This record gives sequence, structure tokens and C-alpha cells, in this order.
Amino acid sequence: MAFTLVGKIVTAVVVLAVIGGMTATIVLVVNDSSSDSETTTAATDTTSPTDATSAAPSTTEIVDESILYRVGVGIADMTGPCVEINFMGYAEVSQSGEGLHLRQFARSFIFVKGDTRIVLVTAEVQAVGIAVRREVVKRLQELYGDTYNLRNVIITGTHTHAAPGGHLVDFILDISILGFSQETYNAYVEGITRSIIRAHESIVPARLFYAQTKVADAHRNRSPYSYLANPEEERIRYDGDTDDTLTQVRIQKADGSLLGLMNWFAVHTTSMNMTNHLVSSDNLGYAALRMEKELNPFSVVGKPQIVAGFFSSNLGDVSPNTRDPRCEFSGNECDNQYVICAHMERCFAEGPGDDMFESTKIIGTRVFEGAWQVLNSPAEELTGDLAVVHQFVDMPEQVVAKYDPVAQTFKTDEPVKGCFAAMGYSFASGTIDGANTLNITQGNLEGNNPLLDLVSGVVADPTEEDIECHSPKPILFATGRATFPLPWHPRVVSVSLIWLAGLAILGVPGEPTTMSGRRMRAVVGNVMENRGIEPRVVVSGLTNEYIHYVATPEEYMIQRYEAASTLYGPNTLDIFLNKFNEFTVAAIEGFDVEAGPEPADYRNNTLSLITPVVFDVSPIGRNFGDCLVQPEATVKRGDIVRATFVAANPRNDLKQEATHAAVQRLELTEWVEYANDADWDTKFKWNRVSTLLGTSQVTFEWRVPEDALLARYRIVYYGASRSVFGSISPFMGASDSFTLY
Ligand code: ZN
Repeated sequence: MAFTLVGKIVTAVVVLAVIGGMTATIVLVVNDSSSDSETTTAATDTTSPTDATSAAPSTTEIVDESILYRVGVGIADMTGPCVEINFMGYAEVSQSGEGLHLRQFARSFIFVKGDTRIVLVTAEVQAVGIAVRREVVKRLQELYGDTYNLRNVIITGTHTHAAPGGHLVDFILDISILGFSQETYNAYVEGITRSIIRAHESIVPARLFYAQTKVADAHRNRSPYSYLANPEEERIRYDGDTDDTLTQVRIQKADGSLLGLMNWFAVHTTSMNMTNHLVSSDNLGYAALRMEKELNPFSVVGKPQIVAGFFSSNLGDVSPNTRDPRCEFSGNECDNQYVICAHMERCFAEGPGDDMFESTKIIGTRVFEGAWQVLNSPAEELTGDLAVVHQFVDMPEQVVAKYDPVAQTFKTDEPVKGCFAAMGYSFASGTIDGANTLNITQGNLEGNNPLLDLVSGVVADPTEEDIECHSPKPILFATGRATFPLPWHPRVVSVSLIWLAGLAILGVPGEPTTMSGRRMRAVVGNVMENRGIEPRVVVSGLTNEYIHYVATPEEYMIQRYEAASTLYGPNTLDIFLNKFNEFTVAAIEGFDVEAGPEPADYRNNTLSLITPVVFDVSPIGRNFGDCLVQPEATVKRGDIVRATFVAANPRNDLKQEATHAAVQRLELTEWVEYANDADWDTKFKWNRVSTLLGTSQVTFEWRVPEDALLARYRIVYYGASRSVFGSISPFMGASDSFTLY
């Protein structure tokens, strides 16, 4: 970029301004492509990057050292085994992996000021529990000592339902995966740890900015009857039954260039439905990849310099499937509570696209566009201290003051308590994002479904105290009383509050509903306002532990799916509200809260019915990597190109930070990777030909984008086979080349 006369004038203005003492907040916008002087000098506390797409300095700034933090960002591939392991989310035993559409990434953000250090991770997985977090922290401590611990390493899940599970270690959470999966667990630990190490190693001085926007048509409330049970006086304070605000924290290096950004938006990452068998980071994953592509136009997918994290929020009752729910076969309207479908016909919602891939892209694009608009708009600078307040909370032991959502006060004379974990009958009904075929309806207050009566009590018998504590929830599974072979649900949960220079990030270990999230923001905002601090609060769902849902006490009375899955009884939310109230005061006043009882470690008690990969064999007369079905010799943009190879089980090598297959382009005499398996336009599909013989095939599929260069291409496959003795041998196969014309 040529530095024109305008630039020199600007520099002079800066020097003068500095001499004049305005060092802290001068933002200069230089547009030297214009012949007339479009130079502005803004002495405000708002800023927007002039060129968000450039990692290079785009503004000339003089920064007051006192407003600088030390911040690191890092991204790493955490993709788990993409075949044969069941996906976590829909609890659908038949939903096991058969390949990969999008890779799973972990994105880490480290904030340091003085002695305070905070790690915040968004991981593309249904949820992360203490079992993974413990191992991540252990590995960090091996490298960095006690710089990192269970208090300051906060890990969240984006809640994608299209990724392998078996890593949570609470028995019921791994049941539908057929137990604990060491492969999934290792993959997630390694990927998340690597992302934090990368963030640690990239720490630079930086400034933080905060802004919000509205995102339209990206979600709907999937339990509106429950929402309507909240007091009218409370509901009229809000626009609708979902939060359509996207909150963003922008991280700028001292030179004004962008280092990374964090976004929170409330939507279930369930655009990919329960019929899907390809690993995917779903709609928020798409938004992140799209943002990183815009910000790092020349980077490979998943290896950007500027990292864009998208975090879940109060998504408990928020679906991305924006069309009205319909019966699977008849197409009739249904709501899975009052209007049900015929026998063995599911009630679920889809949309807005024609299929789940298109819906993922549409919702992801809408979220991206919101984030992009905020990124290019003025933002408020966050200044002040950092703090992290963390407590292990023994839920059934809690006795707290009831919260009055209308008066927005705590009733100290009305104590309420937590219960031992239990799930209600309506848990079995599923939701319009993933329904059952058995016509088990939501809103069950009776506990008299003959089918479920058979299984209720199998887990453990609820005590009289449990039944009373959970009322009116009819208990289906008294999971809090079940301890064989290990506890079925967490009893002690991690609750955290990150104080990011005046922004309170509430770490909720589950899925708060829309109104639950609003109450959390109201309580914390109130504490901030009472101390003269502008109430900036964001709810971070799926943080540090998975405890299913957090419905309000009023929603709880309706007992739809979210309420039936509110584990610790009707006062679960009020416990969190009391905690966040206390934590906010602690963060502002700089004291610490009690650490609480650290949960026991059950990683040695796990059971697994998951069969390992035994061996791989190529058919007689064939070698691994032989191309069985060649692509067409000539293709056009928009076509779908496929190649099929003699394969081995992808579980032998998860190819983290690499790829199972790729599209290569011929550049002069060299084949250069053009798209890999993390690319939106590719699909990697594996299928077992014979379990007995150990034979399998993979098909790699590429939808040729409209901007692809007219050239010669080929598809390559990178496999790894297992011998009967257990040794792993890498191999590679390549298709014939084909011409894009
Ligand atoms: Zn959910």
C-alpha cells in the first residue's frame, strides 16, 4: 500500500495529537485510495476495523498501555472418529458415523492481565464434561505448571448433534454411544489441548471491543407453551420468545489489526437432523468457517490466523428448524403435545432449506452475516479488570432464596432446594428437532405411559423425597440415585463467571431456555447497575459440564421436554441465579468464592460395548487405495464429482490437522491440494463391504464450486490400514485426472 501525502498528513496529526495528550483513544482511518482527503480522526471510545479482511495493520493507532490486555487465540482440529461411533445429541442408537462433511475444531481464547489468566474454549461437540477438561488441564500443567487449572480453563460445546460421543463419562450420557469411547475422548482432549497451546504461544498485547446486533429468521422457539407459562409481566419486557441478539467481542492487536473474535448466539446446532451420518459442526460451525474464510481469504480451512469463535447461549428451547413441525408421512401439522401424529409417525420440524445441508448453510449464513455486520460497525471498548469466578456446586445440597421474576428480587424468606438428578417422562418424547416414533407426548404430568412404566425404575427407585422434590415431574429415571457402574449424571457441577473487562460471561453447565437466560442476565445486570456498571452480560451455555436443560420454575410446571430434562428439580434455575448473583459481586469486588467439592474422577470405571477395529483387508487382486470408480473425464462447475477407493477403517488414523481425502489441482507439473475433507463442498463417505473379511470402500465427493479454475484435477485418498497384528500402515490412492472446462 502506497503511503501517500494523505498518510503523511495523518501521521503529523497523530504526532500533534499525542503531544496534545490524546493518546488513549485516537483512531485514525486512512483511505489512501481516494484522491480527496477522507481522513477522519475520532476521539471516541468506539472503533471498527477499517479492513476486517486484513490481518495486517489497517489503522494507525497510538494506544495507552493501560488498556492493553495480553490475548492469545488458537484453533486446532479436534475431529473424532468419523465412522462406526454413534453421534451424541439425539440419543439415537442407529445414528452412527459413516463419514465426514465438516471437521470439528476447537477455538481457544486466552486473556491475561496482571496475575489473572482466563482460557475460554469453544469446541465443536455436543458438550464437554469434566472428564475431558481434567485431562486437558493435566496436559497443560505438564507444560506450563499451575498456570492452568480447573478454575481458569473453561470449555464450552457448540452443541452440534453431528459428532461422535462416548467422551462424557456419566453413564447415561454415554449409553446411546454404547458406552465410553476412548477414541473420541482422546481425539477431543488432544484437539482442545492443542488449540489452547496455540493460543498460549501466540499471546500478544491486545484491546477488547464489545457490540451486539439482531439476527433475523435464524431460529424459533420449539416449546412455546412452556414459554407462555412465564408471567406475563415478565414476558412483556421482551420482544418475543427467543433471543435474537448476537453478542460479539472483538480482539484487536495493539496496531489495530484483528486478532480474533468471539460470538454468542442462541440456536440449537441441530440443522443436521437425526438421519444424518456425516460428522458436521452444523450451523454455528458453518458460520465460523465462513467468517474465517472472509477474514483469512488465502488460508486453508481450519488453519486461519484470525480465529472466529461461535459460542452457544440460552438455546434450550431454540430450534434452527424454522418451519412448523409436521407429521413425517401425512404432512399434517403437529406439536407433539396436543396434536400428535399417527402411530409410528414422527412429528418434527425442518427448514428453512430443502434438505438439512442447505438448512445448515442458510442458518449458518444468517448468523455469519450478523457477526460480520457487527464486526464492521462501531463497538464499545472493554476496559477494566479480568476475573474468573468458579465453583463446584453440589446440586442436591443447595438451599437458596427463591427468585421472583416479576419483582426481579430474591425472596430470602422463601428458601428452595435442589434435588438428586432425575428425568421426567417427557424426556422420552424428544423434541421437534429429534422426535420419537412412539407417540410419547411432551407435557406428561401423570407418569402413566404403559411403555415407559416398564422401564421406569429400572435405573434406580426414586425415594419419596425425590418424588416430592421433583413434583410435578413424574420421574422416569432417578439417575441421581444410580451409581452403577459409575454415576449416571453429574451431582457436582461446575458454575463459572468470566469477568472480561466489564462483560460478564455466565458459564452455565447445560442448556438454559430463552427465559432462563434472560433471568440470568437480569440478575447479573442488576448487580452491575447497582454498582454503576453498564450491564453487559452474555450467557454461555454448555459450559464445563453437561446437565441437559435449565427451564424456569414456571416452564417446569408444563413438563415439556426441556422441563422433564431439567435434572435437579423445579429450582435448578434459581440455584444458578443465586450463584451468579454472588459471583458477580465477587468479580466486581475482587474476592473469591468457595471452591466447592471437586467431583470424583470416574474415568477408570467406564464400560464400553464399542468394538475396536479388528483388521483391514483389500479384496483379492486389489490394493488399498485402488480407485474402483473413476470420476468423469470432463466436468463442469456445479457438477458433483465422485471417486471410490479400496479403503481401510478411518478410525485407524483420525487425520487430525490433515485430511482423509482431497481434491488436487495440477499446477504446471505439480499436484496441489485444492479442497480437503473439511471443505463445505466435499463429503467423505465410508462404507463397510464385509465385516467378516475386513473390506471397505470410501467415496469422496466434490461439488465443483462456481469459482473453481478451469484446470485438471484429481481426487486423492489417504488411508491407514490395520493388520491382524495391530500395526497401522498408511497408504495413498489417486483417481485418474479430470478436466474442468
Ligand atoms: Zn439440546
